[in-house]
Amino acid sequence: MVDLRGVHKSYGALEVLRGVDLTVRTGEVAVVLGPSGSGKSTLLRTINHLEKVNRGWISIDGELIGYRRHRDKLYELKEREILRQRTHIGFVFQDFNLFPHLTVLENLIEAPVAALRRPRKEAVATAGRLLERVGLSDKAGAYPRQLSGGQQQRVAIARALALEPKVLLFDEPTSALDPELVGEVLDVIKDLARSGTTMIVVTHEIGFAREVADTVVFMDGGVVVEQGPPSAVLDNPRHERTRAFLSKVL
Ligand code: ATP
Ligand code: MG
Repeated sequence: MVDLRGVHKSYGALEVLRGVDLTVRTGEVAVVLGPSGSGKSTLLRTINHLEKVNRGWISIDGELIGYRRHRDKLYELKEREILRQRTHIGFVFQDFNLFPHLTVLENLIEAPVAALRRPRKEAVATAGRLLERVGLSDKAGAYPRQLSGGQQQRVAIARALALEPKVLLFDEPTSALDPELVGEVLDVIKDLARSGTTMIVVTHEIGFAREVADTVVFMDGGVVVEQGPPSAVLDNPRHERTRAFLSKVL
């Protein structure tokens, strides 16, 4: 379970997250919607402690992220501990972020071998299974630049899965893709959803949200304005701001 309580984040005088409460249960998919600048990316980045929160806390399966509690005070963890936590939080970016100088297979085994100290042979076997899962078994030896955007994003998803994450975070995973490549990436994410992967997906794909989300989260101005099942938030939004947003994107 991913739990955020009273999360605040400012950049200088700009308050980007203004008290975010969010719970995503294990095996659930939360889709986060909201206008540009509402704090969606910042929210994801706080979850893996790429951004430090100014107030509030985040926990995954009961473990505080970035901090430990001692006598009711929070102390930031050492870098090594933060990296360990981060290995269990998969992050898939808009622009794929593969290592350009490594083959697909090497992209997949790099972190398991370096961060989790898995034997190379085991990491290669796992990578093979994951490539099969995302439909790219024949691309193990290719370099990222030799792949389409959709294929690169599927490799990025497989790479995130190679670390056996407790949760997968997606920041607009299809918005850099040509329209005809969006479907193949969403299909992979749908497959993960069916198999019970806990995910938080920032996207503008409303159809995907309707089909896959257990819970839809509408953010505006750094807070969660409304959260609930797709049938409630998308079809019967209770807040004017949600309605206004949906009328623009639907
Ligand atoms: P989009 O839909 O355009 O991706 P978003 O909801 O993901 O928007 P964020 O990227 O979280 O929004 O940004 C929220 C606000 O925080 C914006 O006003 C942005 O300019 C600001 N911001 C984000 N990152 C930083 C940073 N590192 N330093 C200063 N301001 C930042
Ligand atoms: Mg963003």
